[in-house]
Amino acid sequence: MQLHKHCCVTRKVGAGHPLAGKTVYIPAMAEGSVEALCAVLRWMGIEAHPTPPSDARTLELGSKHTSGDECFPARITTGDFLQIAQQPGFNAKHTVFMMGTTDGPCRFGQYAPFLRKILRERGYGDIQVLSPHGEHGYSDFQDFDTAFVRMAWHALVAADILRKLLLQSRPYETLMGEADRAFRESLEDLCHTLEQSCSNSRCQMSSLTASLLRARARFHSVPARFDGSRPLIGIVGEIFCRLNNFSNRDLVRRLEGQGAECWMADIAEWIAYTNLEEVRNLRLAGRAYSWEMIQSKLRSRIQNADEHSLRSLFVEDFVGYEEPGIEEVIGLARPYLPFPGAEGEMVTNLGRSAYLAMHGVDGIVDISPFTCMNGVVSEAIYPKLSRDYADIPIRNFYFDGQQSDLDRDIGIYFELARSYRERKPYQRSYPSRFSWQEENADMRNYGRSSGRCKPWH
Ligand code: SF4
Repeated sequence: MQLHKHCCVTRKVGAGHPLAGKTVYIPAMAEGSVEALCAVLRWMGIEAHPTPPSDARTLELGSKHTSGDECFPARITTGDFLQIAQQPGFNAKHTVFMMGTTDGPCRFGQYAPFLRKILRERGYGDIQVLSPHGEHGYSDFQDFDTAFVRMAWHALVAADILRKLLLQSRPYETLMGEADRAFRESLEDLCHTLEQSCSNSRCQMSSLTASLLRARARFHSVPARFDGSRPLIGIVGEIFCRLNNFSNRDLVRRLEGQGAECWMADIAEWIAYTNLEEVRNLRLAGRAYSWEMIQSKLRSRIQNADEHSLRSLFVEDFVGYEEPGIEEVIGLARPYLPFPGAEGEMVTNLGRSAYLAMHGVDGIVDISPFTCMNGVVSEAIYPKLSRDYADIPIRNFYFDGQQSDLDRDIGIYFELARSYRERKPYQRSYPSRFSWQEENADMRNYGRSSGRCKPWH
């Protein structure tokens, strides 16, 4: 189905490209984002898929080939990649596994070398491990051109928006499964749009805008009752565990099941942070006036403008859920972990937690892998941050693939969030779709409450 009339031809890599004729697998970190990224690779003419859904075998394989010292996401991704390698007819020479990397204080920089080592030891040394680097804002996809990087950014921002729409509507749906359906259909639409996109950036943006507006219409038609009674829980934490439902045992859905609405930190925040780090590192290396610095600043500027343009379609929907700029996040973290003395997700966790508290959330949950350095440092500072923000309840949930009574723990935490809600000094702003509550309150005053549902607009 052709959804948009393009003015230029679809972009393809040539037969001489190192990835031509190969299949790229990307870890299924976040539902939506990874499918969208794969669609961009297919737009380039490269076969790409997310790793298949994780299951018990993922944990079994991951545990068998790790020592227990590795971070939980390393175990999950290793297990998922090995499952692919063990499929009948698997061709190592035609396979590429994507595994990002970075320098810096935590163990993420070890994931790619570790994966290469395991693959070599298991006889899969022919598999190529593609490793974009966080120090360059994940922009160095080998010799792909800037068009790919820009399109990948569009894909990630659009997927963040779809996830936000899902989290905003699912807790309030009156017909179970409708919000998930709207998300799935919108994601399919987005992937198709990205894959069929043309090489003219203006035309790209216009087809993407049309796709997001269709998504908006789908979510608006989800039957829902926005009654404002649900506590809003901000979700921060380690990026993989926070976004990967298998790793965190569907914590967000469980919170929703207890009566919460969740506001999750998205992927774009991390990319913006790595862009900032890139500039800082160039300065430290005495390359403040270099070609790399110009490239980095230009990329950030274009990314900001494109993100703003896509998010501006949802200004009304996202009233009260506005995303902070990365400078604001870092500024809010400064009293606790002064950047750049401290770096990484602990900085964004703390800065965002302060931002969320000030914007009226009723509690904050940090989702991290067990023994995650960022999670442990953040946990040590949360009590102080909580005191500074009217004793807002902040709770770390750690995951390592073991079973525990998660629903009981969520229930206990949720009671704290409910009681904070009654006394919090920071009020939320609500989008207009919640206005039916006030109308109903007026009607109740006259003893005529209709209890009707209202669409988003
Ligand atoms: S952020 Fe935590 S889980 Fe992720 S690599 Fe670093 S230490 Fe490991």
